[in-house]
Amino acid sequence: MTRSVTYADFAKLARRRGWTAAWLAEHFKGRIEQPREFFERVLKAGSGSEDRGATLIPYRSVLELYRKEMGPGAANSGARSCDCGCGKPIYGRKRLASGACRKRMERRRSRNPESGSEKHKKDGAFSVTF
Ligand SMILES: [Zn+2]
Repeated sequence: MTRSVTYADFAKLARRRGWTAAWLAEHFKGRIEQPREFFERVLKAGSGSEDRGATLIPYRSVLELYRKEMGPGAANSGARSCDCGCGKPIYGRKRLASGACRKRMERRRSRNPESGSEKHKKDGAFSVTF
């Protein structure tokens, strides 16, 4: 990943996540210089003043956070990644990305079964006699 991240890019993500300058400053305390001032400048870039919007974020740790949030698995806004661990994004109320994922989960579940109830069902079926 070589794409640069601008102040405006970061400000957009921050707004979507509800990050404030104060929260970010706390998060990056000790890792970047004057974090509070820095993030206040960055977050302002997204809201009108275009001059700073194209400034690139210079801090590796900040870029890492940005890429983690924007990268695969957290791709589109609100998307989570599939429960089976394949990393595909999922939307809405679903928990698995595809039928293959469901099968994968079922197989995983049958390997360490919570089979008490299933056994019970079978026993019951046997006991139904004429
Ligand atoms: Zn999956």
